[in-house]
Amino acid sequence: MSSADPGSFQRYALHGRTFYVKRDDLLDPLLSGNKYWKLYTLLHTPSESYQRIVSYGGSQSNAMLAIAALCAKKGWQFHYYCKPLAAYLKEEPSGNLKLALALDMHLHTLEHAQYATGIAALEADKDQGCLLIRQGAADPLAAAGMQALAKNIKVWQGQQSIERLRVVTPSGTGTTAYYLACAMPDVQVVTTAVVGDAHYLRAQMQQLGALPDNITMLEADKKRHFAKPYRELLTMYHQLREAGIEFDLIYGASMWYTLLQHLNVMGDDTLLYLHSGGLSGNPTMLERYQRKGW
Ligand SMILES: *Cc1c(COP(=O)(O)O)cnc(C)c1O
Repeated sequence: MSSADPGSFQRYALHGRTFYVKRDDLLDPLLSGNKYWKLYTLLHTPSESYQRIVSYGGSQSNAMLAIAALCAKKGWQFHYYCKPLAAYLKEEPSGNLKLALALDMHLHTLEHAQYATGIAALEADKDQGCLLIRQGAADPLAAAGMQALAKNIKVWQGQQSIERLRVVTPSGTGTTAYYLACAMPDVQVVTTAVVGDAHYLRAQMQQLGALPDNITMLEADKKRHFAKPYRELLTMYHQLREAGIEFDLIYGASMWYTLLQHLNVMGDDTLLYLHSGGLSGNPTMLERYQRKGW
Protein backbone atom coordinates (compact mmCIF):
# COMPACT_ATOMS: atom_id res chain seq x y z
CA MET A 1 0.00 0.00 0.00
CA SER A 2 1.40 3.37 -0.97
CA SER A 3 1.22 6.18 1.51
CA ALA A 4 -0.55 9.41 0.70
CA ASP A 5 -0.76 12.92 2.08
CA PRO A 6 -4.03 13.86 3.75
CA GLY A 7 -6.61 14.79 1.16
CA SER A 8 -4.29 13.85 -1.66
CA PHE A 9 -5.10 12.11 -4.93
CA GLN A 10 -3.92 8.57 -5.39
CA ARG A 11 -3.85 6.26 -8.39
CA TYR A 12 -5.73 3.03 -7.68
CA ALA A 13 -5.85 -0.09 -9.81
CA LEU A 14 -8.85 -2.37 -9.44
CA HIS A 15 -10.29 -5.09 -11.71
CA GLY A 16 -7.85 -4.13 -14.47
CA ARG A 17 -8.88 -0.48 -14.62
CA THR A 18 -7.16 2.62 -13.28
CA PHE A 19 -9.07 4.90 -10.95
CA TYR A 20 -8.07 7.85 -8.83
CA VAL A 21 -9.06 8.13 -5.20
CA LYS A 22 -9.17 11.38 -3.30
CA ARG A 23 -7.99 10.37 0.17
CA ASP A 24 -10.32 12.48 2.26
CA ASP A 25 -10.39 9.61 4.74
CA LEU A 26 -6.97 10.88 5.85
CA LEU A 27 -8.07 14.45 6.59
CA ASP A 28 -8.76 13.75 10.26
CA PRO A 29 -9.33 10.48 12.15
CA LEU A 30 -12.82 11.41 13.40
CA LEU A 31 -13.93 14.28 11.18
CA SER A 32 -13.14 12.69 7.85
CA GLY A 33 -14.41 12.08 4.35
CA ASN A 34 -17.41 14.00 3.12
CA LYS A 35 -18.35 14.98 6.70
CA TYR A 36 -15.24 17.14 6.79
CA TRP A 37 -16.50 19.07 3.75
CA LYS A 38 -20.12 19.12 4.90
CA LEU A 39 -19.01 20.70 8.18
CA TYR A 40 -16.29 22.84 6.60
CA THR A 41 -18.21 26.09 7.12
CA LEU A 42 -18.63 25.37 10.83
CA LEU A 43 -15.00 24.34 11.13
CA HIS A 44 -14.15 27.86 9.96
CA THR A 45 -16.78 29.60 12.09
CA PRO A 46 -15.43 31.47 15.14
CA SER A 47 -15.97 29.54 18.39
CA GLU A 48 -17.85 32.48 19.93
CA SER A 49 -20.63 32.12 17.35
CA TYR A 50 -22.30 29.22 19.16
CA GLN A 51 -22.48 27.62 22.58
CA ARG A 52 -24.45 24.57 21.62
CA ILE A 53 -24.99 22.34 18.61
CA VAL A 54 -28.05 20.09 18.40
CA SER A 55 -28.57 17.25 15.95
CA TYR A 56 -30.38 13.91 15.64
CA GLY A 57 -30.38 10.62 13.76
CA GLY A 58 -28.97 7.09 14.07
CA SER A 59 -27.00 5.97 17.11
CA GLN A 60 -24.02 4.78 15.02
CA SER A 61 -24.12 7.60 12.50
CA ASN A 62 -20.88 8.87 10.94
CA ALA A 63 -22.36 12.38 10.91
CA MET A 64 -22.95 12.16 14.67
CA LEU A 65 -19.29 11.31 15.30
CA ALA A 66 -18.07 14.03 12.92
CA ILE A 67 -20.21 16.68 14.66
CA ALA A 68 -18.97 15.45 18.06
CA ALA A 69 -15.38 15.85 16.84
CA LEU A 70 -16.16 19.30 15.44
CA CYS A 71 -17.72 20.41 18.75
CA ALA A 72 -14.75 19.08 20.73
CA LYS A 73 -12.41 21.17 18.55
CA LYS A 74 -14.61 24.25 18.91
CA GLY A 75 -15.51 23.97 22.58
CA TRP A 76 -19.21 23.71 21.73
CA GLN A 77 -21.66 21.56 23.70
CA PHE A 78 -23.19 18.83 21.56
CA HIS A 79 -26.68 17.44 22.18
CA TYR A 80 -27.75 14.49 20.06
CA TYR A 81 -31.21 12.91 19.88
CA CYS A 82 -31.93 9.37 18.75
CA LYS A 83 -34.44 6.56 19.19
CA PRO A 84 -34.01 4.21 22.20
CA LEU A 85 -30.71 2.31 22.10
CA ALA A 86 -30.60 -1.45 21.62
CA ALA A 87 -30.00 -3.18 24.97
CA TYR A 88 -26.46 -4.29 24.10
CA LEU A 89 -25.50 -0.73 23.13
CA LYS A 90 -27.01 0.72 26.25
CA GLU A 91 -25.02 -1.72 28.34
CA GLU A 92 -21.80 -1.18 26.50
CA PRO A 93 -21.59 1.55 23.85
CA SER A 94 -19.38 0.59 20.91
CA GLY A 95 -18.20 2.00 17.59
CA ASN A 96 -19.11 5.56 16.66
CA LEU A 97 -21.37 5.90 19.71
CA LYS A 98 -18.53 5.07 22.08
CA LEU A 99 -16.19 7.48 20.30
CA ALA A 100 -18.77 10.30 20.30
CA LEU A 101 -19.59 9.82 24.00
CA ALA A 102 -15.86 9.98 24.76
CA LEU A 103 -15.93 13.40 23.05
CA ASP A 104 -18.54 14.53 25.63
CA MET A 105 -21.57 14.22 23.40
CA HIS A 106 -24.80 14.53 25.42
CA LEU A 107 -27.08 11.73 24.25
CA HIS A 108 -30.87 11.99 24.55
CA THR A 109 -33.19 9.19 23.57
CA LEU A 110 -36.77 9.70 22.45
CA GLU A 111 -39.35 6.90 22.50
CA HIS A 112 -40.43 5.77 19.02
CA ALA A 113 -43.90 7.24 19.46
CA GLN A 114 -42.50 10.60 20.56
CA TYR A 115 -39.62 10.76 18.08
CA ALA A 116 -41.20 12.78 15.26
CA THR A 117 -42.76 15.41 17.54
CA GLY A 118 -39.59 15.52 19.67
CA ILE A 119 -37.45 16.27 16.63
CA ALA A 120 -39.90 18.84 15.31
CA ALA A 121 -39.78 20.56 18.72
CA LEU A 122 -35.98 20.96 18.51
CA GLU A 123 -36.37 23.55 15.77
CA ALA A 124 -38.91 25.53 17.81
CA ASP A 125 -36.90 25.28 21.04
CA LYS A 126 -33.57 26.52 19.81
CA ASP A 127 -32.36 29.84 21.11
CA GLN A 128 -29.55 32.28 20.38
CA GLY A 129 -26.18 30.60 20.41
CA CYS A 130 -27.68 27.25 19.46
CA LEU A 131 -27.45 25.68 16.01
CA LEU A 132 -29.59 22.78 14.86
CA ILE A 133 -28.00 20.57 12.20
CA ARG A 134 -30.38 18.35 10.23
CA GLN A 135 -29.94 14.56 10.26
CA GLY A 136 -26.80 13.45 8.43
CA ALA A 137 -25.77 17.12 8.11
CA ALA A 138 -28.18 17.25 5.15
CA ASP A 139 -28.12 20.95 5.52
CA PRO A 140 -27.73 23.97 3.22
CA LEU A 141 -24.69 24.87 5.31
CA ALA A 142 -22.92 22.02 3.48
CA ALA A 143 -22.99 23.96 0.19
CA ALA A 144 -19.98 26.20 0.90
CA GLY A 145 -17.83 23.25 1.94
CA MET A 146 -18.69 21.44 -1.28
CA GLN A 147 -17.60 24.51 -3.23
CA ALA A 148 -14.24 24.33 -1.46
CA LEU A 149 -14.00 20.63 -2.29
CA ALA A 150 -14.92 21.32 -5.93
CA LYS A 151 -12.18 23.95 -6.19
CA ASN A 152 -9.72 21.43 -4.77
CA ILE A 153 -10.75 18.88 -7.42
CA LYS A 154 -10.64 21.42 -10.28
CA VAL A 155 -7.04 22.38 -9.41
CA TRP A 156 -6.01 18.71 -9.59
CA GLN A 157 -7.96 18.21 -12.83
CA GLY A 158 -6.09 21.15 -14.36
CA GLN A 159 -2.71 19.93 -13.21
CA GLN A 160 -3.39 16.49 -14.65
CA SER A 161 -4.88 17.94 -17.87
CA ILE A 162 -7.94 15.73 -17.53
CA GLU A 163 -10.58 16.66 -20.05
CA ARG A 164 -13.41 14.33 -19.22
CA LEU A 165 -13.79 13.71 -15.51
CA ARG A 166 -16.39 11.87 -13.52
CA VAL A 167 -16.42 12.15 -9.75
CA VAL A 168 -17.85 9.17 -7.88
CA THR A 169 -19.33 9.34 -4.38
CA PRO A 170 -21.95 7.25 -2.51
CA SER A 171 -25.19 8.85 -1.32
CA GLY A 172 -27.09 8.64 1.93
CA THR A 173 -29.00 11.89 2.12
CA GLY A 174 -27.54 12.91 -1.26
CA THR A 175 -26.29 16.22 0.16
CA THR A 176 -22.68 15.62 -0.89
CA ALA A 177 -23.49 14.60 -4.47
CA TYR A 178 -26.06 17.36 -4.84
CA TYR A 179 -23.97 20.34 -3.74
CA LEU A 180 -20.88 18.97 -5.44
CA ALA A 181 -22.75 18.69 -8.75
CA CYS A 182 -24.01 22.26 -8.30
CA ALA A 183 -20.45 23.45 -7.63
CA MET A 184 -18.89 21.81 -10.70
CA PRO A 185 -21.44 21.92 -13.55
CA ASP A 186 -18.96 20.70 -16.18
CA VAL A 187 -18.15 17.49 -14.30
CA GLN A 188 -20.43 14.44 -14.06
CA VAL A 189 -21.10 13.36 -10.48
CA VAL A 190 -21.77 9.62 -10.29
CA THR A 191 -23.55 8.24 -7.26
CA THR A 192 -25.83 5.46 -6.02
CA ALA A 193 -28.50 5.38 -3.34
CA VAL A 194 -27.25 3.49 -0.29
CA VAL A 195 -30.31 4.52 1.74
CA GLY A 196 -33.57 3.63 -0.05
CA ASP A 197 -33.60 3.68 -3.85
CA ALA A 198 -32.97 6.18 -6.67
CA HIS A 199 -36.53 7.47 -6.38
CA TYR A 200 -36.05 8.25 -2.68
CA LEU A 201 -32.65 9.80 -3.32
CA ARG A 202 -34.02 12.08 -6.01
CA ALA A 203 -36.74 13.26 -3.61
CA GLN A 204 -34.13 13.90 -0.90
CA MET A 205 -32.03 15.99 -3.27
CA GLN A 206 -35.04 17.95 -4.48
CA GLN A 207 -35.55 19.15 -0.92
CA LEU A 208 -32.26 20.98 -1.32
CA GLY A 209 -33.21 22.57 -4.65
CA ALA A 210 -33.69 21.86 -8.36
CA LEU A 211 -31.89 18.73 -9.52
CA PRO A 212 -28.80 19.60 -11.60
CA ASP A 213 -28.45 17.57 -14.84
CA ASN A 214 -24.85 16.47 -14.18
CA ILE A 215 -25.76 13.79 -11.63
CA THR A 216 -25.71 10.16 -12.77
CA MET A 217 -27.55 7.83 -10.39
CA LEU A 218 -26.50 4.22 -10.81
CA GLU A 219 -29.11 1.63 -9.87
CA ALA A 220 -28.09 -1.22 -7.58
CA ASP A 221 -28.67 -4.76 -8.90
CA LYS A 222 -31.03 -5.50 -6.00
CA LYS A 223 -32.71 -3.79 -3.11
CA ARG A 224 -30.52 -3.74 0.00
CA HIS A 225 -31.41 -2.53 3.47
CA PHE A 226 -29.24 0.20 4.87
CA ALA A 227 -26.35 -0.98 7.05
CA LYS A 228 -27.34 -4.66 6.91
CA PRO A 229 -24.61 -7.25 6.22
CA TYR A 230 -24.47 -8.66 2.66
CA ARG A 231 -21.93 -11.25 1.51
CA GLU A 232 -21.16 -9.45 -1.74
CA LEU A 233 -20.39 -6.20 0.11
CA LEU A 234 -17.98 -7.99 2.43
CA THR A 235 -16.25 -9.53 -0.61
CA MET A 236 -16.06 -6.08 -2.22
CA TYR A 237 -14.59 -4.63 0.98
CA HIS A 238 -11.82 -7.25 1.00
CA GLN A 239 -11.04 -6.76 -2.70
CA LEU A 240 -10.76 -3.00 -2.18
CA ARG A 241 -8.48 -3.54 0.80
CA GLU A 242 -6.28 -5.94 -1.10
CA ALA A 243 -5.97 -3.32 -3.84
CA GLY A 244 -4.50 -1.00 -1.20
CA ILE A 245 -7.21 1.20 0.32
CA GLU A 246 -9.73 0.50 3.07
CA PHE A 247 -13.27 1.80 2.48
CA ASP A 248 -16.27 1.68 4.78
CA LEU A 249 -18.47 -1.41 4.61
CA ILE A 250 -21.74 0.45 4.20
CA TYR A 251 -21.36 3.28 1.68
CA GLY A 252 -17.97 2.60 0.12
CA ALA A 253 -18.49 -1.11 -0.51
CA SER A 254 -21.94 -0.44 -2.05
CA MET A 255 -20.72 2.37 -4.29
CA TRP A 256 -17.77 0.39 -5.63
CA TYR A 257 -19.89 -2.74 -6.09
CA THR A 258 -22.44 -0.85 -8.18
CA LEU A 259 -19.83 1.24 -10.01
CA LEU A 260 -17.97 -1.86 -11.19
CA GLN A 261 -21.22 -3.16 -12.70
CA HIS A 262 -21.63 0.04 -14.71
CA LEU A 263 -18.11 0.63 -15.99
CA ASN A 264 -19.28 0.14 -19.58
CA VAL A 265 -21.28 3.37 -19.47
CA MET A 266 -18.32 5.38 -18.14
CA GLY A 267 -16.42 5.23 -21.45
CA ASP A 268 -12.83 6.42 -21.25
CA ASP A 269 -13.63 9.18 -18.79
CA THR A 270 -11.24 9.56 -15.88
CA LEU A 271 -12.90 8.29 -12.73
CA LEU A 272 -12.12 10.00 -9.45
CA TYR A 273 -13.60 8.32 -6.39
CA LEU A 274 -13.98 10.58 -3.38
CA HIS A 275 -13.20 8.58 -0.27
CA SER A 276 -16.11 9.51 1.96
CA GLY A 277 -14.52 8.26 5.20
CA GLY A 278 -16.56 6.27 7.70
CA LEU A 279 -13.82 3.80 8.62
CA SER A 280 -14.57 4.22 12.33
CA GLY A 281 -17.73 2.19 11.77
CA ASN A 282 -15.92 -0.80 10.25
CA PRO A 283 -14.99 -2.67 13.46
CA THR A 284 -18.64 -2.91 14.59
CA MET A 285 -19.77 -3.87 11.08
CA LEU A 286 -17.06 -6.54 10.83
CA GLU A 287 -18.23 -7.96 14.17
CA ARG A 288 -21.73 -8.28 12.76
CA TYR A 289 -20.35 -10.13 9.72
CA GLN A 290 -18.33 -12.36 12.01
CA ARG A 291 -21.39 -13.21 14.10
CA LYS A 292 -23.02 -14.40 10.87
CA GLY A 293 -20.07 -16.72 10.38
CA TRP A 294 -19.05 -15.05 7.08
C1 LIG B 1 -22.46 10.21 5.39
C2 LIG B 1 -21.75 9.33 4.45
C3 LIG B 1 -22.10 9.25 3.09
C4 LIG B 1 -23.34 9.90 2.53
O1 LIG B 1 -23.28 11.30 2.41
P1 LIG B 1 -24.56 12.13 2.02
O2 LIG B 1 -24.08 13.51 1.87
O3 LIG B 1 -25.53 11.99 3.16
O4 LIG B 1 -25.15 11.57 0.79
C5 LIG B 1 -21.31 8.50 2.26
N1 LIG B 1 -20.24 7.80 2.73
C6 LIG B 1 -19.91 7.81 4.02
C7 LIG B 1 -18.77 6.96 4.48
C8 LIG B 1 -20.64 8.57 4.93
O5 LIG B 1 -20.31 8.56 6.22
